[in-house]
Amino acid sequence: MNNNLLILLVEDETAISNFISTVLTHNNYRVIRADRGKEALKLVCSHRPDLVLLDLGLPDIDGIEVLKKIREVSNIPVIIVSARGFEREKVEALDLGADDYMTKPFGTSELLARIRTAVRHSQKLQEESHPGYDKVVIGGLCIDYEKRIVKVEEKEIHLTPIEYKIIVLLSKNVGKVLTHDFIIREIWGPYMNENQTLRVNMANIRRKIEENPAEPKYIITEVGVGYRMVDEV
Ligand code: CA
Repeated sequence: MNNNLLILLVEDETAISNFISTVLTHNNYRVIRADRGKEALKLVCSHRPDLVLLDLGLPDIDGIEVLKKIREVSNIPVIIVSARGFEREKVEALDLGADDYMTKPFGTSELLARIRTAVRHSQKLQEESHPGYDKVVIGGLCIDYEKRIVKVEEKEIHLTPIEYKIIVLLSKNVGKVLTHDFIIREIWGPYMNENQTLRVNMANIRRKIEENPAEPKYIITEVGVGYRMVDEV
């Protein structure tokens, strides 16, 4: 039996599809391919891949629609592959539950790193649903959900309730980009549109947990999109 992870590659440009497929196969992933959205949805149901690489510009149905349909049935990690200049699509895709995005053209090592992160993230989520999961440790940062405390290098950090909620939200989605809108909705509810408040809180959190807040290592800014808590430092 072959236990290697199965990746569904959804891409209509043959050259790109061949290239990515070769890279993945050489790195011990199993690959199935679709060049149409509808075909991709069928394969998600029939083959239950461990991860989907999804091009947004497909000839039949839009990649965003494919993502929505996948999310109706499955929480498998989805990494969006988009052409340059589609910032809004990226944000929309992340809001709809994509795990990550990459802009073409991208390098092989970036592709492999993002796949590893997305897979780790989804495995972590599965662990979380088991009892006994009560904290997350990233380098010197420890977030203890049970005791509701955050420590950096063994020293307890004082956070406001909002700061704590933000850091918990990011840590429960570790490795994943969360958009500004998503964070704001989750923390303050649907009627708030306070980018500035989020920025201020984030600056305070960084001041408290980062050695150098100007070059954060735990919470990374995704310019124009949102924030991501790294899963290892
Ligand atoms: Ca395309």
